[in-house]
Amino acid sequence: MIGLEIHCQLTKLESKLFCTCKANYRSFEPNTNICPVCMGMPGTLPRLNKKAVEKATMIAMALNCKTPQKLGFFRKNYFYPDLPKNYQITQLNLYGPTSIGEQGKVSVEGKDIRIRRIQLEEDPGRLIYEGASEKTAITLVDYNRAGTPLVEIVTEPDFDNPRQVRIFLNVLSDLLENLDVADPSLEGAMRADANVSIEGGNRVEVKNIGSFHDLEKAIHFELTRQSSLKERAIEIAQETRHWDDKRKITISSRSKEEDQDYRYILEGDIPWVLMNEKSLEIWRKNMPESISSKKERYVTKYSIPAQVADVLSSDKFYSDLFEQAHNESNAKEIANLITTDLMGLVDTREKREQSKLTPQHLSDLVSMINSGKVTRSSAKNALQEIIKSGKSVSEIISTTGLAKISDESEIEKIIEQVINEEKTAVTQAKENPQTINYLVGKVMQKTKGKADPTITLNIFKKKLGI
Ligand SMILES: [Zn+2]
Repeated sequence: MIGLEIHCQLTKLESKLFCTCKANYRSFEPNTNICPVCMGMPGTLPRLNKKAVEKATMIAMALNCKTPQKLGFFRKNYFYPDLPKNYQITQLNLYGPTSIGEQGKVSVEGKDIRIRRIQLEEDPGRLIYEGASEKTAITLVDYNRAGTPLVEIVTEPDFDNPRQVRIFLNVLSDLLENLDVADPSLEGAMRADANVSIEGGNRVEVKNIGSFHDLEKAIHFELTRQSSLKERAIEIAQETRHWDDKRKITISSRSKEEDQDYRYILEGDIPWVLMNEKSLEIWRKNMPESISSKKERYVTKYSIPAQVADVLSSDKFYSDLFEQAHNESNAKEIANLITTDLMGLVDTREKREQSKLTPQHLSDLVSMINSGKVTRSSAKNALQEIIKSGKSVSEIISTTGLAKISDESEIEKIIEQVINEEKTAVTQAKENPQTINYLVGKVMQKTKGKADPTITLNIFKKKLGI
């Protein structure tokens, strides 16, 4: 049985969960994004960020969870240098359901993964170990992150295998991005621990997993380790194990704390928060269109193939671009251009940030393709230029020589060259006309994709008598 505990930072929020320090701690020098509240100074009082409640509730709704009638906050007591108050303010369903959501579900390839609960809590600070060695004498602490809003999502142990875990995390990460509450591509914005057990064995929690890729490996490792213990009739201890990123194994770190070890108490400085039906209704209405509804709209309204609609709708960056660029008549071609060409060119976070491409560029480029001024294969080169320079499509087409070659005599010259160079292919094409595409491809290579493909094909057919 495999279950997950996923921590997602609400990176799109303005301020921390209980004070006005910035939620975007990443842009600050160490220990400069702090105040007496998030440093846990005596006498300070937390004030709950309403926006955080709103955004976390949207996550709960999107994961089909029940929302409680009142929210409660609790102190989870433990001593660790990254925790300035010596307790973390979090949520617990101690007196009935009072955390931000419970009993939800997400469908992964037709299987329902149940969500046990979602809670809103504060992130601790960060410990930075100086130097590469694990045995470094110096550990630094940066409290900029302390108190930033975090949502913990706990699933039931419903996963059958590590692959399902990976797909679930991708679905979840797309969903959070689509809700515009988090940017999962930021380092540390989404972290997951796994609970792994096999029949007859105790539950083992694996922590400290740096990436989703490693999470899959860590679960694989645990399943193998536990099965081998079982075969040798050795008891599988209930414990917390850490993922050793270098050796790609899990190592025992400490016996697992039970809930009672944390001495949870109600956070007396934050009163119960009564959830108002009207607010919940407004939040629900304000939720962005879901990925599945977008996909359905793309397919039914614009006849975009399901596979293309799937890729497009699940990525917020590209679906936003599509929404702004398309109209009734060019939607299909814009979707095509984004999924077949653009996604390959702008495939990292950095490239997205640096790209100078606007929705207008896309619709202009599609008009140029439709009016025959540029070929479909030159469009990719044009996109490359636009991303770099942000120049207008017409300027790029005229200055970089990407305009389509439609002049028959010009194309004919190149075709003659190809016929001379590709004697075998020519013979083959005469016998089997379908292989003519190879020759057309050669012309495209020579013209860097600028030759009009229909004219090229027609001239070839005429010359080869097929
Ligand atoms: Zn603060």
